[in-house]
Amino acid sequence: MAKIIDGKAIAAKIRGGISKETAQLKEKGIVPGLAVVLVGEDAASRVYVSMKEKACAEVGIFSDEYRLPAETGEAELLALIDKLNKDEKIDGILVQLPLPKQIDTDKVLEAISPEKDADGFHPYNVGRLMIGKPLFKPCTPYGVMVLLKETGVDLSGKEVVVVGRSNIVGKPVALMCLQQNATVTLCHSKTRDLAAKVAQADVLIAAVGVPEMIKGAWIKEGAVVIDVGVNRVGEKKLVGDVEFAAASERAAAITPVPGGVGPMTITMLLHNTLESAKRRR
Ligand code: NAP
Repeated sequence: MAKIIDGKAIAAKIRGGISKETAQLKEKGIVPGLAVVLVGEDAASRVYVSMKEKACAEVGIFSDEYRLPAETGEAELLALIDKLNKDEKIDGILVQLPLPKQIDTDKVLEAISPEKDADGFHPYNVGRLMIGKPLFKPCTPYGVMVLLKETGVDLSGKEVVVVGRSNIVGKPVALMCLQQNATVTLCHSKTRDLAAKVAQADVLIAAVGVPEMIKGAWIKEGAVVIDVGVNRVGEKKLVGDVEFAAASERAAAITPVPGGVGPMTITMLLHNTLESAKRRR
């Protein structure tokens, strides 16, 4: 049976380290600050924003919250971002997505100063990621890389197969694995014979958003499986993109859903905010 990669425990360890560093900064009069901007009433977004604020408080990061009505105009939001860009107390700016239809998301993300882009979504940081020198790495793929490192996986020379090519998970995680000398195959909905591609993977990273679409029987014996997918099945149950029970019988190590990649995303947001404060002040 596969070893379970305990994202909660790894996230707790990293958050412990962040708390220690914020305590040291506080002695110098520096409190890292994250501005969290939520536009509208999307229920899931409200939950995410509350979780982020709670996580900030727990590690000694100041969070400044802006909850704007759903009818907020683009100009108003851009003016707020401009103000936050100039605010010395703010080291990271997070605009919770999705934004309401009347607002151009790209315009908003590009208005955030690249030096405060804690989510790593600004094209400047996306471009810097391509050349291996980002100011900020996007949080979910960064969390995946930390999970692999903490599990003792050396990617050099390994076959990594990433399923899903979104801008927020698949593409950046593929680049990050390439930078660590893996040979990377990036699959998507038009990929032919996905099962055969998955079967080559020493390390499989699934970021699709389709419940258990990657079958356990496809997994190579001894592979490491990182399941980014979070899919609601029925009222309460969450499952990943990988058929967990069957994959566990073949993999050497696997992340559970929930409790794998999930806890790492907010952890890396905290990490990015702390690093920004250390860089800026
Ligand atoms: P997304 O933007 O919807 O992208 C999904 C990707 O999967 C696309 O590249 C799509 O291919 C590919 N795909 C869809 N069906 C496929 C199939 N049958 N075979 C192969 N590839 C297929 O999703 P995302 O934002 O990257 O998120 C992916 C999953 O990760 C979701 O479950 C999401 O909830 C989860 N997630 C979790 C966290 C976390 O913190 N744990 C953070 C972000 C996302 P095309 O490009 O060809 O359409």
